Formats: sequence, C-alpha cells, structure tokens
Amino acid sequence: MKIIDGRSLAKEIKSELKRETQKFIKQGGKTPHLAAVLVGDDGASQAYVRNKIKSCERVGFESTLIKKKSTIQEDELLEIVDGLNKNEDIDGFIVQLPLPDHIDESKVTLAIDPVKDVDGFHPMNLGRMVIGLPCYIPATPLGMITMMERYNIKTEGKNVVVLGRSNIVGTPISILLSQKTKWGNATVTLCHSRTKDLVSEVQRADIIIAAIGIPRFVTSDMVKEGAVVIDVGINRIDAPDTKKGYKLVGDVDFDEVAAKASYITPVPGGVGQMTVTSLLMNTLKAARGEIYPGG
Ligand code: NAD
Repeated sequence: MKIIDGRSLAKEIKSELKRETQKFIKQGGKTPHLAAVLVGDDGASQAYVRNKIKSCERVGFESTLIKKKSTIQEDELLEIVDGLNKNEDIDGFIVQLPLPDHIDESKVTLAIDPVKDVDGFHPMNLGRMVIGLPCYIPATPLGMITMMERYNIKTEGKNVVVLGRSNIVGTPISILLSQKTKWGNATVTLCHSRTKDLVSEVQRADIIIAAIGIPRFVTSDMVKEGAVVIDVGINRIDAPDTKKGYKLVGDVDFDEVAAKASYITPVPGGVGQMTVTSLLMNTLKAARGEIYPGG
C-alpha cells in the first residue's frame, strides 16, 4: 500500500507555480491576484480561506480578503461580486461556500464573471467542461486528477465508483474521468443516497472516490484488494483528549482500508491540500488569460 501524500505533492506543485509566476512576471505579465470573499464566522470556512490566502503569498501572488458578517444582505454581497468582476487588478476570485441561509448561493455563483470564476462553479465553466472546451475545472476534481497523474495511476478502462453527487465534487469528477482524455477513459458509476446496494457497487471498483461527508463510511469489507482509494471527505469528530476537542477524519476508515488498498489518500494531508493548489493553478491561468483570452 502506498499513501498518496497530498502535502508533499502540493508543496512540489507550489514550487513549480512560484517559478512559473516569476517567469511570467519577468516576461512582462502582471502579478496574479486572487480575492476571496468570506461571509460569517464558520470555523472551517475561516480555516480554508486563511489557507488559500497564505498559499497565494507562498507562490508570489497578490491576495485580497474581503470579510463580511453573516448578517450581510444578498444585495450587498452581489454588489461586492460586481465590484470584483469590474476590478481589473483582480484576475480571479472566490466566494467561500456555504453562505448563510438568507442568501441564495446559486444567485451569487451566477453573478460571478465566468472569466474570473477560478472555483469553476459557474454553469458556463461547468458546461464548457462537460463538452471539453477550455474552462476552469473545479478545484477539488482538478486536484484529484492532478494527484492521479503525478502518481501515475491509470484510469483508462478502470471501473471507478464515485460516492456523492455534489455539483462541486462528485458530479464533475465523474464526468471528467469518463471523458476521452488522458486523465479519463474510465467507466464511471456515480452512487448517491438513493443507490440500491451501494456496497456491491463499491466492491467492484478499481478506483473509489468518496465524497459524501459521513465519517469512516467506507469500510474494508467494501473495498476490493488493490483498489485505489481517494478520500475527499473532511469530517469533524469529537476528540475530547485533543487540544481542540475535535479531529478531522475522512469518509474512509483509513486504518482498515489502507491494508487493502494499493494507493490511499489520508485525511488530513490528502485531497484537501490539492484543492488549494488547484485554485492557484486556475488563478495563474486567469492571469495569463489562457482560458478566456482577452477576457
Ligand atoms: P455534499 O455534502 O453536498 O453532498 C453529499 C453527497 O453525498 C450527496 O450527493 C448525497 O447524495 C451523498 N450521500 C449522502 N449520504 C449518502 C449515503 N449514505 N450513501 C451514498 N451517498 C450519500 O457533498 P460535497 O460538498 O461534495 O462534500 C462531501 C464531503 O467532501 C464533505 O465531507 C466535505 O467536507 C468534503 N469536501 C472536501 C473537499 C476537499 O478539498 N477535500 C472539498 C469539498 C468537499
């Protein structure tokens, strides 16, 4: 069994990005600039955004953090989005989800200019992705594809079972892996809460991607000997004996499953690290105008 070390891979890719950024600036390009909008004081969201901003500094990007109270009205948030769309110095920006209940998330996502949508959540980017046009691929799926490529994990002809059908993880990764591309050509089954006999679906998988948000849902009896296991889940569970009082675990029972898997991603230190790196990759693309030239 081999552990896919997201932390060291992310570090390696960040060094590459730093070099590419320096080269781009030397050749007359502008310093890539990512902005993040954070609404409310959810602990996990704050940690994610902090990490994104810190990562920008590491690779030589500029970053701007816009923090707003959870009482912000939808109109005010839409005005902020509009301002970022129009601000020529900002290459790409994200609005950290989830948003408070009184704000319509899809309205906010739709308001983001697709040219600056480095999270790849806008239907324009998702639609372009589906038909194979240049686009911003959502960060978590892009992170998983990059991970598999760098670890030389072949997907062609493999049975992939994806657990979870969210718009940001399960659905896009299942589309990407089934496409006729160097990272695709797999036979993909997308399982969700209404799937009948999910266990036998997972049991025949060569590659399992777990993105459902249930701690340690995937157990060793569900995993074929030698399967590749990619754990997207990030779940907080009580751990009274720790300083924070909680710890993070994935959707996979790591200790049990690791013994059977050929490759496995840990939580933390796996896919999450790659998500941030992918956001930076998308931001550099935005600054270079690679996806929507002249946009
Ligand atoms: P979500 O939370 O929006 O939806 C959960 C999905 O799981 C749904 O499609 C649902 O049908 C499915 N599901 C729920 N219960 C199920 C069951 N018993 N059997 C089969 N399917 C079931 O999904 P999300 O936003 O993709 O998040 C999933 C997990 O991934 C969460 O733990 C989240 O924190 C994590 N996540 C991690 C990253 C990262 O960078 N590592 C990024 C995004 C999300």
